[in-house]
Amino acid sequence: MKVGFIGLGAMGAPMARHLQARGLLAAVANRSPAKAQVLADELGVRAAADASQLGDCDVVMLCVPADADVQGAVQALAGVLAPGAVVVDHSTVAMQTAIDAQALLAPRGIGFLDAPVSGGVEGARNGKLSIMVGGEAGALERARPALEAYALRITHMGGPGAGQATKAVNQVLVAGIAQAVCEGLALGEKLGLSADRLVPTLAAGAAGNWFLDKRGATMLADSFTPGFKSALLLKDLRIVQAMAAQAGIRATVIGQSLADYSELVDKGFGDEDTSALLRIKRGP
Ligand code: NAD
Repeated sequence: MKVGFIGLGAMGAPMARHLQARGLLAAVANRSPAKAQVLADELGVRAAADASQLGDCDVVMLCVPADADVQGAVQALAGVLAPGAVVVDHSTVAMQTAIDAQALLAPRGIGFLDAPVSGGVEGARNGKLSIMVGGEAGALERARPALEAYALRITHMGGPGAGQATKAVNQVLVAGIAQAVCEGLALGEKLGLSADRLVPTLAAGAAGNWFLDKRGATMLADSFTPGFKSALLLKDLRIVQAMAAQAGIRATVIGQSLADYSELVDKGFGDEDTSALLRIKRGP
């Protein structure tokens, strides 16, 4: 199997490394070509200028920021991939983008899986991502050996779009947990509690969670290196808000998180980790 990887950021680069470790990676591509060249040299694979140069691949992975990036890559891949190839999109985008991509590629005999991931940069580095897959079972079976390179769990959630639907639910939980942890730790700071004692004490009890574990100590030390950029969570929240409005649920967590992350991004902190929400929770 020859795998190509497009989008070599905080998530994509470590995922590509796992594919290379299994002998599956053939080529890498990125919007800024220098990034692709550096990783290609490190891993001994080809640097492709863009998706149109990945026509020899059996499976092409995408891990890019937004809907337009996925649409552009899928358009280019539709023109070059052979029947039987599979495009796997690990980005977090709208369900409709996945449905449209599948519809564009299917008549050409090319499979498409919406396969967003959860587990953070730590999960990408350790090869322990939870992958939520929408699309056809046959395409999943063809791509599975590549996905296994960085998966803790692969779940086939349903047809096209079902992976992105699952990720939307995931992001409601992610946003709500960030709200709770950042607000709680902002209060802890104001009460003069020692960060060194507070975080492990909370983590050992019923309030323990992944975000507190991975980001609690760093945020209290004013370190907000991503991780997961606040601007990317804001992009996710906009997608989720539209879905929640259509579904008619009472979406208070989504609403508050959208307001807070919009403010954070407007203040110039969009490239900081989502734990930078602490800045706002500290108050004026
Ligand atoms: P990032 O900003 O670190 O990296 C994105 C990479 O894609 C960059 O190298 C950028 O140059 C490249 N890129 C942008 N547009 C491109 C295009 N049109 N063609 C080719 N390359 C392009 O982002 P990330 O944190 O790696 O996230 C990528 C995707 O994965 C996003 O959709 C994000 O929501 C999702 N995601 C992120 C995390 C996380 O914890 N960081 C977790 C799960 C899912």
